[in-house]
Amino acid sequence: MMDIREYLKEFAQQDCACGKSHAVEIPRLVVESGAIVKIPQFVGEFGAKKPFLLADAVTYEVAGRRVCEILAEAGIECEKYVFPVGVEPDEVAIDSATTHFDDTCDIVIGVGSGVINDIGKMLANAVGKPYFIVATAPSMDGYASATSSMSIGGLKVSLDSKRADLIIGDIDILKQAPSTMLVAGLGDMLAKYVSIAEWRIAREVTGEYYCERVADLIRGALCRCVDNVDGLLNREDDAVRSVFEGLVIGGVAMAFAGVSRPASGVEHYFSHVWDMRGLAYGTQVQLHGIQCAVATYIASGLYEKVLGLIPGRDKAIRYAENFDYPAWADMVRSLLGAGGDAMVSLEEKEQKYNVAKHLERLEVICAKWDKILKIIREEIPSQREIGAILDKIGAPKSIEEIGVDLDMPTTLCLTKDIRDKYVLSRLLWDIGVIDEIV
Ligand SMILES: [Zn+2]
Ligand SMILES: [Zn+2]
Repeated sequence: MMDIREYLKEFAQQDCACGKSHAVEIPRLVVESGAIVKIPQFVGEFGAKKPFLLADAVTYEVAGRRVCEILAEAGIECEKYVFPVGVEPDEVAIDSATTHFDDTCDIVIGVGSGVINDIGKMLANAVGKPYFIVATAPSMDGYASATSSMSIGGLKVSLDSKRADLIIGDIDILKQAPSTMLVAGLGDMLAKYVSIAEWRIAREVTGEYYCERVADLIRGALCRCVDNVDGLLNREDDAVRSVFEGLVIGGVAMAFAGVSRPASGVEHYFSHVWDMRGLAYGTQVQLHGIQCAVATYIASGLYEKVLGLIPGRDKAIRYAENFDYPAWADMVRSLLGAGGDAMVSLEEKEQKYNVAKHLERLEVICAKWDKILKIIREEIPSQREIGAILDKIGAPKSIEEIGVDLDMPTTLCLTKDIRDKYVLSRLLWDIGVIDEIV
């Protein structure tokens, strides 16, 4: 079994043809059965004496209590704060975590997955202590990231927090995760087919920075997940390990690249749109990775349609000239509330709908169309293949199955406005077919 951390460290040290230095701090990483028994040793190695443990009522039962016992057996006193079930990563949660933090503690240990890790990183950053995360599910790729996904004032934002100093993936714990969380983890990995393709397409269209080695790192991690997918629902060690390690690699790859490109593309924006809708109107949302699974399936179908297109220059120019900006702004605001306001402000700065800017991109797209199609063929499996992988793990494939409140055409249209990032929906808008492709 390859040691992922050594592999990533070596990667970081080598010179790279992309011109960027990838010399980032790689978090310590322990992925093995029974890893949590080593926590007292790690606490000692960080020179800490009194951990502060953060969990929710579920993750405390899954692993938090055991961590406290292991620390106690080693003679290490430990304070804790356990959130109720369903805690959200918002100002209130950060407030209660910092209020309950015991000043005499010298290290923060989060026990959980997405939400607890986001709060734990914020807390450790605020109190200036080292941070360990004991992962309870291989469900999302935030374990190795240095930011926290938070809901602040009705907006989903990514705040700088800190990278975990130690990530503990105890296979015995991870493989007990609910199957929806295993499915979510795989969904967040499958998303990378689209993100890598879009990263390459963006390099062609907008001249964006791209690193082939980082892309390859992701391709390798994704390939191991797909190769092992048959064992995932049976909770086989290798399958669970490859998803967990893949998600960690996804997080580190974003740090290597300095952008989210290696791990997130239009499929993540589908998920963001549904999350924003949920924040604004209280409509149903699902785990990030479950939404990514559905969105990856949808995106693979759309990319298949792109393969049959030839952009028409005149049609695209007419489409951009006739674009109704005020109607667009009204629609975004009414569908997404505060999140929509932020998107309209972003466009005011970015001006992607500016006709002259559109024309520049269109010339490049027309000139490089064959190259764009080649990238899609090389990177994105057919929708049938993606569907077959999702079927193996019983994952949903449609918006109806996950009960989110926006249909596909509307969601696709909104994805182009989330960030200043060139994704599928922007390409479709640029060639004037976004309304008719769905
Ligand atoms: Zn590079
Ligand atoms: Zn993700």
